[in-house]
Amino acid sequence: MAASLRLRGAASGLRYWSRRQRPAAASLAAVCSRSMASKTPVGFIGLGNMGNPMAKNLMKHGYPLIIYDVFPDACKEFQDAGEQVVSSPADVAEKADRIITMLPTSINAIEAYSGANGILKKVKKGSLLIDSSTIDPAVSKELAKEVEKMGAVFMDAPVSGGVGAARSGNLTFMVGGVEDEFAAAQELLGCMGSNVVYCGAVGTGQAAKICNNMLLAISMIGTAEAMNLGIRLGLDPKLLAKILNMSSGRCWSSDTYNPVPGVMDGVPSANNYQGGFGATLMAKDLGLAQDSATSTKSPILLGSQAHQIYRMMCAKGYSKKDFSSVFQFLREEESF
Ligand code: NAD
Repeated sequence: MAASLRLRGAASGLRYWSRRQRPAAASLAAVCSRSMASKTPVGFIGLGNMGNPMAKNLMKHGYPLIIYDVFPDACKEFQDAGEQVVSSPADVAEKADRIITMLPTSINAIEAYSGANGILKKVKKGSLLIDSSTIDPAVSKELAKEVEKMGAVFMDAPVSGGVGAARSGNLTFMVGGVEDEFAAAQELLGCMGSNVVYCGAVGTGQAAKICNNMLLAISMIGTAEAMNLGIRLGLDPKLLAKILNMSSGRCWSSDTYNPVPGVMDGVPSANNYQGGFGATLMAKDLGLAQDSATSTKSPILLGSQAHQIYRMMCAKGYSKKDFSSVFQFLREEESF
């Protein structure tokens, strides 16, 4: 995939709508070529940890779904709920003119769009295709070109917030694409997220997401190191977390997603690091950050280090665990 990234200036057109600040319907209609608030079927491809609750929130808002996942079991509960399951992304495109994809990697997204039975085989002119997977911004740009050739519209809209936010409909969407189409995308994304942010041209949503996740990885490793050190120094982990969270070391990894078992309920560390955001996906996102840093000649000293740590974790059996299992990984390293 070609395409050089031009991230500088990407944020210049940044627009932010929280749920409370959405423009009135009349002004939305002015910028949108599709009918607003129509409950025609929406295609959804990729019903994994994130796609499953996101699709359910679209259902809650009254949208009938056309569903596809390479793993048929992922579709079962939607089929049981009366939604239509089809056998390829092309079939989704035949039946729906608005499609959301939520897939693990760039390769999966390319397959779903450009594969032998991909969306592009049957996409209708004027369709809106929103990719919420976290993938290489250069791949998003290439997909956008292919989609445009078919007379349809592509937007990248990766998410932040994790499985909990996906369930509660409180994701943050970072959206890149033609600004005139943002309102149409917002109609659907607003059913799944409480923040929908317009970032600029195609690929800038991915750029924002990659920067966020690089920072998240660094802060999670830092939180795990600080918590482990404090425990070794004799502090009670719950007390240490409480102190960090009222002090300058506080961050999302310490106050919302603490990596130490027993400190918080309802987070992966309380459940043997099951569910949540897999270490493999974090290693993938850090690889995207590394590629982007290389192509833009940006120094990411800690980001590169974080990439190596998550790759090492995956090689040592942590690939299926949540990324906060870096705490457990550090503990095992202690014996060396
Ligand atoms: P997942 O692996 O749980 O789910 C992905 C789903 O896509 C699976 O059901 C898989 O069978 C399906 N799939 C793969 N290739 C396919 C194809 N070609 N066609 C149709 N279906 C296909 O992944 P996830 O945790 O839901 O993450 C999805 C994306 O969201 C990733 O890019 C990830 O980086 C990003 N993300 C995840 C989280 C999180 O907390 N899990 C948070 C933010 C962003």
